[in-house]
Amino acid sequence: MSDCLFCKIAQGEIKSDFVFKSEEIVAFRDINPKAPVHILIIPKKHISKISDISENEQQLVGKMIGIANKIAIKEKIDKDGYRLVFNCGQNGGQEVYHIHLHLLGGRKMNWPPG
Ligand code: 5GP
Ligand code: ZN
Repeated sequence: MSDCLFCKIAQGEIKSDFVFKSEEIVAFRDINPKAPVHILIIPKKHISKISDISENEQQLVGKMIGIANKIAIKEKIDKDGYRLVFNCGQNGGQEVYHIHLHLLGGRKMNWPPG
């Protein structure tokens, strides 16, 4: 998708603070962090919403979670805990329509979320 912000980030067209890169998945620091650690894990492939994933793409989402767990260890937030979030659609608070897994940590998260 040529006009998608996260496609451009994944392709290196927009400078970002990457913490992980592979053939299929990249992760970078959120530009407006909501916690001391706030990292976005995205597939290079454009998928608009988590509700759009096909059965074949479920494995890709599993890999994104595995990468988030590894980044959490590297960021030293694994012991205290962290939050993994997919916002989906308008009521879910999704602003960028290219799926991204939020990894949030470094402080106590509130529940229920706002
Ligand atoms: P959403 O609300 O769609 O789940 O989350 C989108 C996230 O992307 C927000 O936390 C926002 O701060 C982040 N974001 C938006 N534009 C950029 C950008 O250009 N670079 C980075 N690194 N993060 C961005
Ligand atoms: Zn995209």
